[in-house]
Amino acid sequence: MPGQWKNGCKVVANTVHWGISDMLTDDEAKRYERQIRIFGEDGQRKLKKAKAFIAGAGGLGSSIAVYLTVAGIGKLRMVDNDTVALENLNRQILHWDNDIGKKKLASAEEKLKKMNSNVEVEIITGTIDKDNVDELVGDSDMIVDAMDNFAARYILNKTALIKQIPFFHGAVHGFYGQATTIIPGKTACLRCIFPEAPPPTIPPVVGVTVGIIGCIQANEVIKYILGNRSLLENRLLMWDGLKAEMDEVPLEKNPRCEDCGEG
Ligand SMILES: [Zn+2]
Repeated sequence: MPGQWKNGCKVVANTVHWGISDMLTDDEAKRYERQIRIFGEDGQRKLKKAKAFIAGAGGLGSSIAVYLTVAGIGKLRMVDNDTVALENLNRQILHWDNDIGKKKLASAEEKLKKMNSNVEVEIITGTIDKDNVDELVGDSDMIVDAMDNFAARYILNKTALIKQIPFFHGAVHGFYGQATTIIPGKTACLRCIFPEAPPPTIPPVVGVTVGIIGCIQANEVIKYILGNRSLLENRLLMWDGLKAEMDEVPLEKNPRCEDCGEG
């Protein structure tokens, strides 16, 4: 509920446009006509029933949220604690000149509602930590990584393992980006892939790179919801924007992983 405090985080807006129903409205049937040809109405209804948790409303969060919104996901829950600044605007496409000084989530919610009023957008202002993450993620069907630091990513990775929900990882540096889809119990987890966090930095970022990686993450989310099995499972996709090349690194679960291993 708006104004309610949860574990140190304040729900500043909670916009509900409809109760979750199995049926597509006339607006939805028309709006999604070109993708229903691929997904089928059943697939579109699966999207309508899905709830995605997006951690972060910056560059990756903008790209992910925009494409899940226009695709007709049922509910987005976004968590962030930042304020829009001028130096964000080269890449964080949900935030515009006149949003400088606003909370990123207020700016994000305003744009997403205008894009597709069928989508329920819930925003929670706060910083993710190990004590509040369980409640923040709640009953979301998946966690999408739009963070800029590994400390928060490890917390989200562990939460996905505990809740047995997928974790869609993405990260960027300059023209380079990476993405993988983590399925608890099946694939390597983030800790298997990166046992230790790289040193924290403020990396250079090209806006196009977060656009591409965020779109890959959103694409994975949509395919997962639809039941497509060709996901980035145990595959770290690497994007090199300078060479316009993609490569991938095969991944393996580490049986001694401190987060998902057997001890
Ligand atoms: Zn692991």
